[in-house]
Amino acid sequence: MHAIIGSGISGSMILSLGKNAFGFDKAKFPGGRTSTKPFESDYICDIGATFFKESCKYRKDNLQYTFSCLDFLVDKGIECIQYQYTNYKSTYFSKNGLQRISEKLIEGKEVQFSKELVSFDVREDKKFILYFLDGTNFIADHLTITAPLPQALSFFPSSKHKEEWESFLQPYFSYRMTLVAAAYWKSPSDSFMSAMKKIPRKTFLYPNQQTEYISIESLKSGGDGFVFMVQYSSEFSDKYFDEWRKEDRSPTDFCKNAFAESFDNFLVENNLKDFWSETETLQPNNWRIHKWRYAQAENPMLSKYDDLDFDSEVMNKYSDLVQRTNIRLTGDWLFGPRIERIIAGESLWKDPRPFLNGEP
Ligand SMILES: Cc1cc2nc3c(=O)[nH]c(=O)nc-3n(C[C@H](O)[C@H](O)[C@H](O)COP(=O)(O)OP(=O)(O)OC[C@H]3O[C@@H](n4cnc5c(N)ncnc54)[C@H](O)[C@@H]3O)c2cc1C
Repeated sequence: MHAIIGSGISGSMILSLGKNAFGFDKAKFPGGRTSTKPFESDYICDIGATFFKESCKYRKDNLQYTFSCLDFLVDKGIECIQYQYTNYKSTYFSKNGLQRISEKLIEGKEVQFSKELVSFDVREDKKFILYFLDGTNFIADHLTITAPLPQALSFFPSSKHKEEWESFLQPYFSYRMTLVAAAYWKSPSDSFMSAMKKIPRKTFLYPNQQTEYISIESLKSGGDGFVFMVQYSSEFSDKYFDEWRKEDRSPTDFCKNAFAESFDNFLVENNLKDFWSETETLQPNNWRIHKWRYAQAENPMLSKYDDLDFDSEVMNKYSDLVQRTNIRLTGDWLFGPRIERIIAGESLWKDPRPFLNGEP
């Protein structure tokens, strides 16, 4: 039995490809950092990743190829919709939100939710014994961990294998934080909605600014409601991480004010201010407030943008380490914090451990 810890994009890809694999996730749902939260009725919001790119390039046996993430997902039965309004060409989202990708990938697979791994040990017969927060144990022949690196390493017993992984992973350990706020208005005025629908883009990227990214998420579901989502810069998120939301997950006044400022700038920039009454801004029908401590790997092993290089020396060292320890750590720190890179990477990387490449 091959135990997979985590059912984000990385874990659910491995589950979808692997036979004899069993997944565990501490969350109640799959998806990890692709997390789709419902608002009232049909409205949803992706509070983690919001889109993926059509394809990604990779190198293998000294040749360059293109992996089509879009074709892969469409083949898996995921309805992908082109996002016409981003700063990038050829971007897509999945209908009903990006969490849908993991949900679909793990269909028919064995996964247990609300199962938080606390630690593991290696027995004399080389099998793994996994210890969960709820007091249960699980025995596995092989282990793959997809949680962010600081969490992943905390599960290891003190051992030579831990030291080897720690030393290998040292350059890839940093993650950025991201604060997110999204608000839903059930029925903004008709004049606002019709003016808003005329603006040519529906996502806005502001590199190096406090308000880093805006997405009009209601575009994904259509209708008369309005969902406005803001992701904040790494510096801002780091500074105000503990001031963002209350224990009941509602926004603090600080969060509401930061959001109001972002929203006001958006209205001014798009000539929408005359259509919006100021008092409405802080009184939406519903909020979704999120804090991502390990939002995106900052210095991934195969870089953020270069072709995925399966011939590289570091990739060979990684595969050797997996084979030698019979433990695999993976995630966005390896292929880069982009959905298409993780999907391509997990599809193409060959696990050197016996019986883990789909062989009977
Ligand atoms: C705000 C934000 C915006 C982003 N925007 C984009 C975007 O637009 N496009 C894009 O391509 N990428 C984007 N990304 C990056 C992308 O979402 C991630 O790189 C990717 O989802 C990482 O997937 P993963 O499976 O490696 O990790 P995760 O999604 O973090 O999965 C790890 C899983 O492990 C589980 N886990 C953790 N600890 C334990 C434990 N102890 N026991 C059991 N389970 C455990 C978690 O619950 C989780 O499900 C964004 C990320 C964030 C946070």
